[in-house]
Amino acid sequence: MKITLSERFQKFIQPRADGCWEFMGAKQGAYGVLSIDGKLNLAHRVAVKLDGRKLPEDMCVRHLCKLKTCVNPAHLQVGTLKENQADRHRDGTSNRKRLWIKPSENLNPDEQANTISNGVATTLLG
Ligand SMILES: [Zn+2]
Repeated sequence: MKITLSERFQKFIQPRADGCWEFMGAKQGAYGVLSIDGKLNLAHRVAVKLDGRKLPEDMCVRHLCKLKTCVNPAHLQVGTLKENQADRHRDGTSNRKRLWIKPSENLNPDEQANTISNGVATTLLG
């Protein structure tokens, strides 16, 4: 019996406590990939197509969460390449070195206070 792409895809999904669906299959760079008819497809693009959404080849799939291997359709949005680049910029995942640690990240309150005061000091010193 031949299993459908959707069934095959679901075998690789590991739901996480934070709501993300981590793709546990093969990876290419930071992203999950799935071989379909001998061709490698990005897992998050497959997720959007399986969700029944249109995905033209020249459009990107943007992750609304921070997990690059996430394939939860609710966390994926079809967008333009330009929007995708803006996301990377916002998330600090572009090639540029990160200068800031966001206070919202998993720091304990003391570290958070240090980070913020250091940030202010740096700003004041120009
Ligand atoms: Zn997610």
